[in-house]
Amino acid sequence: MQEKVKYIIVGQGLVGTWMSYYLQEKGLSYKIINHSQRPAATSVASGVMNPVTGRRMVQTWMIETLLPFAVNAYTSYQENAGVSIIKKAPVALIHPSLQMKESFDYRLSHENVYLQKNDSALWKNFFNTPFGTGEIDSCYWIDLIQFLETGREKINDHYIEDEFELKDLKLVDNGIEWKNISAEKIIFCDGVQSMQNQYFKTLPFAPNKGEALIVAIEGLPAENIYKNNIAIVPWKDNLFWVGSSFEWNYENTSPSIAFKEKMIASLDSILKLPYQVVDHLVGIRPANTERRPFVGLHPIHPQLAICNGMGTKGCSLAPYFALQLLNHIELGTEINKEASIERFYHLLQ
Ligand SMILES: Cc1cc2nc3c(=O)[nH]c(=O)nc-3n(C[C@H](O)[C@H](O)[C@H](O)COP(=O)(O)OP(=O)(O)OC[C@H]3O[C@@H](n4cnc5c(N)ncnc54)[C@H](O)[C@@H]3O)c2cc1C
Repeated sequence: MQEKVKYIIVGQGLVGTWMSYYLQEKGLSYKIINHSQRPAATSVASGVMNPVTGRRMVQTWMIETLLPFAVNAYTSYQENAGVSIIKKAPVALIHPSLQMKESFDYRLSHENVYLQKNDSALWKNFFNTPFGTGEIDSCYWIDLIQFLETGREKINDHYIEDEFELKDLKLVDNGIEWKNISAEKIIFCDGVQSMQNQYFKTLPFAPNKGEALIVAIEGLPAENIYKNNIAIVPWKDNLFWVGSSFEWNYENTSPSIAFKEKMIASLDSILKLPYQVVDHLVGIRPANTERRPFVGLHPIHPQLAICNGMGTKGCSLAPYFALQLLNHIELGTEINKEASIERFYHLLQ
């Protein structure tokens, strides 16, 4: 017998988990299909929300809207789930060069919202700081492993552990059928897998490989994120996430020795504490060269929708755009023009 729901979600990474959270909140029926043996960018990400970016330390896109929205969303999620998910964690900048120190000093006095001076002496026991230090305020760390795990528990009754294959999808009038389930809409939240999807693969995805090490560092305070040429992010206990790489052109999706050696050389040059590498992670970011999400309904088959393209900023983008897409479908509200896939309708038709 066919089971009827309003939505099918494909993928339970950051985006799919937020999608299911809002569906649950709105009391809408859904099923979520996820294949947990498939790699998910979310499970290797460091979980940082940082309002500034790049060598010039400029504010990231829409951050004044996205950051407060995301902080509220993760805080509500944490209260509902009864577990700790979000933590304020200022970034201690260990300036890697004179140019970076000058760049920081310049930004401090020009259109500065998030930067502050700090006391270099605080970090001298832990790091070599020949070019001094600084601080980025209003940074947050999301415990993504906990987020995915509690997300899974919360959606237990709706969760289907299965490989989604397009050959099992049937488009019908005003809806879809997948195996023995029929739904009004299917929303693809399957990260880089959407690049193989015949309905959405012409979107200009540009996947990006990222690697990180998990490193045990005894005695490094876990209240801060540290940034030099590399980021050192508190993970749990005495473990820190160290990374990462951004590779647009890559030959394989395996961890590379070159990356590991580069991180070790960086750690050796800045860290005064002994450390031990315990793991090496790799993931593919569902990115695109425009660095804007892909959100919306298919122009010819409006029973198909996508929420993807979160690139390097999934933590802050996912809750906001998951809700925007649902509100668009349920209430007819607009999707931000820069994120809406309407800008690519000519490619999807
Ligand atoms: C090394 C690294 C560090 C990062 N650090 C940060 C950071 O600090 N802050 C930040 O904001 N972002 C960071 N990111 C980016 C962030 O990870 C992504 O933007 C985000 O995780 C994308 O989420 P998603 O849900 O779109 O995709 P994913 O997390 O990849 O989820 C897709 C899901 O779909 C499932 N799936 C795929 N295909 C199928 C199928 N056929 N059938 C069933 N299930 C399927 C997969 O199992 C997976 O669970 C980082 C990424 C990497 C690689």
